[in-house]
Amino acid sequence: MSLNDARFRIAPSPTGYFHVGGARTALFNWALARQLGGTFVVRIEDTDADRNRPEWTEGIIEALAWIGIKASDPHFEGPYLQSDYTQQHVDAAQQLVDAGHAYYCDMTTADIEARHIANGKAEGSQGYGGWSRDRNLGPGSGRVIRFRVAEGVTIVHDEVRGEVEFDNALIEDFVLVRSNGAPVFVLANVVDDMHMRITHVLRAEEHLSNTPKQQMLWEALGASVPVWAHLPLLVNEQRKKISKRRDKVALEQYRAEGYLADAMVNYLMTLGWTPKGDEIQPWAQMEADFRLEDVHLSPAFFDLKKLAAFNGEYIRMLSPHAFLDASRPWLPDHFDESKFLAMAPHIQPRCVTLADAPGVVDFLFLAEPVIDRDAWTKTFAAEANVAILRETLAAYEALSDWQAESLKSAMEVVGAAHDLKLGKAQAPVRVAVSGRTVGPPLFEALEVLGRDETLRRLRNAEAALD
Ligand code: GLU
Repeated sequence: MSLNDARFRIAPSPTGYFHVGGARTALFNWALARQLGGTFVVRIEDTDADRNRPEWTEGIIEALAWIGIKASDPHFEGPYLQSDYTQQHVDAAQQLVDAGHAYYCDMTTADIEARHIANGKAEGSQGYGGWSRDRNLGPGSGRVIRFRVAEGVTIVHDEVRGEVEFDNALIEDFVLVRSNGAPVFVLANVVDDMHMRITHVLRAEEHLSNTPKQQMLWEALGASVPVWAHLPLLVNEQRKKISKRRDKVALEQYRAEGYLADAMVNYLMTLGWTPKGDEIQPWAQMEADFRLEDVHLSPAFFDLKKLAAFNGEYIRMLSPHAFLDASRPWLPDHFDESKFLAMAPHIQPRCVTLADAPGVVDFLFLAEPVIDRDAWTKTFAAEANVAILRETLAAYEALSDWQAESLKSAMEVVGAAHDLKLGKAQAPVRVAVSGRTVGPPLFEALEVLGRDETLRRLRNAEAALD
């Protein structure tokens, strides 16, 4: 396949987990890269030496693969490591110095403050006044390289926000390379995007404040500015930006809790964009329909309840076999798969996450049900319930077949004798067989559990009650 020239990217800084906001950014980029037949580049911004663990990069690639962004896809390129390109960043800074767009500066923070005070401003005054611009300093110890911000305004054409104007007077001559020789984020990010021939920069809104500086760098380096799109913030119920401290933001955690990748992907796509028609839709449809100009401006509510509802819906859509496969990590090592499959359509509507599955059906696989003592005591405190248990046992022993329908009819007869509807009448049997007061539809479960095992449990319960 030959790809066209549209090149997208994500540039995550490794943090040990993959932020759901990063996943949303990745999906928007991925949708466009595939839709346009372009490329999706992954660049790990790992220049912070303390954050440079190889397993964190692997974690990012794995998280991407989970949401369907596979390194084996022809549209995928990378991962590249930013730390491999430090020399290119430094060279670009030197190129800017040579062209007069940047200059060396030896002023420390204390020097800058002293200058402010000398100029009659209060102690603690901020901002560098470009004081070394014309001193023609060369490289040397303790010297940084600063960008010479021109007068006027910088207009950023943002696909989501329209034209955003920045007054250059409010942007100081910013540092490109620190005195220890380390290039700063704004420079490294632009130089890499240039070298990687990135045409579209879709990223989180919090980076918009860097964009005028970066646009100046693109222009000063003689390259054409990419298409910018800043995606709306993700906020929690309190309308605060979701963060590691306040919220569950690690994609991996949702995975571990039993969220389905497809549900997660679909939900993330709705954060800042509205699919046409039903919100629940397959990836292929979203990939085809997604447009940057339809991305919303306002912050997107990362709504855990809605995510749970999406997940429940996706779980219900699975075939019994797919549900079994997806649930495996939460199920015991050895269990009767045919029993699980037979019950699957009854389990699925009762699950919000895959982790709920065992709690619904484990009594079918366990040698003995785990008895909820409280439920047991409350249920059998009622004499009628003890009688119902005995009578049902007798009725079931006499049944000629072992079908859900017959089990139900027999129980209806027992219940009627006690003036009880089925819902109430089945409670003692459910507790005796499953140990709990809630669970999947009882008669289907008894059919799956089988005659011998059901009768055995009912007899055990009867004996325990004597
Ligand atoms: N490393 C930056 C981040 O993780 C990248 C910003 C960008 O996408 O340009 O936020």
